[in-house]
Amino acid sequence: MTLSKIRVASLSVLAVAALLAGPASAADGPWSLAIHGGAGVIKRGDLTPEKEAAYRAGLDAAMAAGAKVLKAGGSSLDAVEATVRVLEDNPLFNAGKGAVFTAEGKNELDASIMDGKTLKAGAVAGVTRTKNPISLARAVMEQSPHVLLARDGADQFSKEKGLEQVDPSYFRTEERWKQLETWRKNHQAALDPTHLFGTVGAVALDQAGHVAAATSTGGMTGKRWGRIGDSPIIGAGTYARDGVCAVSATGSGEYFIRETAARQVCDRIAWKGQGVQQAGDDTIKSIGAIGGDGGLIAIDGQGRAAFSMNDLGMYRGAVSSAHPVARTAIFADEPSPQ
Ligand code: ASP
Repeated sequence: MTLSKIRVASLSVLAVAALLAGPASAADGPWSLAIHGGAGVIKRGDLTPEKEAAYRAGLDAAMAAGAKVLKAGGSSLDAVEATVRVLEDNPLFNAGKGAVFTAEGKNELDASIMDGKTLKAGAVAGVTRTKNPISLARAVMEQSPHVLLARDGADQFSKEKGLEQVDPSYFRTEERWKQLETWRKNHQAALDPTHLFGTVGAVALDQAGHVAAATSTGGMTGKRWGRIGDSPIIGAGTYARDGVCAVSATGSGEYFIRETAARQVCDRIAWKGQGVQQAGDDTIKSIGAIGGDGGLIAIDGQGRAAFSMNDLGMYRGAVSSAHPVARTAIFADEPSPQ
């Protein structure tokens, strides 16, 4: 072999090795986390300064949990689960403890999670005894051959897999009970149209370039007949695909299902070449056009965050390697963190 042939051969060996190792920045690429704590009729006058501070502190605590994972080089999947668990444990948000009540006065919880690297997903609907439904969704993804388990069966799976169980009374808060009483007096026939929701969600990009999304909710006050919204529906409330985007939605779930909202954002990016903010905004427009309202958070394959809504507000926040000090926003006219 001549010297130049040897050089070409060794260069191609290097090229193949580089390809097998993945992107050069795999170990220490940028990371990014965006979260929401629900969208709805959040009026400035209705939130006392103490309550507003408590919501922002709740968002900050959740972002701290997720950012810790991402900073240490952990996976986006671990980060979104850790983030959502903190929000589920916070009674202010409509997920886990503090979930809204069904028409019969029960708490039925929905959650889903998706791994953009493998396109694996897990979800649960109408569960009643698992302290952290997002971890149950992850168990469905990792420890069952299925994507979505519901109600009694999901409760049973949770027990069998050893997830932390609580008495259903654990989820109850006085504030949510009062909301049910108001709903019973005023609406009864329909789902609560003001939906001061509080569904929670997180999307993340990790240092290895993988994205993930997670969403958890108690649904809507006054739901009945086993109603399930968009939150546990992969493609509607949650979606993630490496190199494209990760999305978590909140709002009037029936409309988000019909517009396959979370997947729509990703398709707009992948197929239409839209930027993540435009893709989110156009998706929310399409939901508005059929009568729905709410919001969504998304990050693209590079971790750029987008927040879109057609409500008065959405509890939201972002933190990233580029902006390591977490920032929050609540009202629609407040600039969203980037
Ligand atoms: N999307 C949820 C549902 O329809 C509710 C919410 O986001 O607050 O169940």
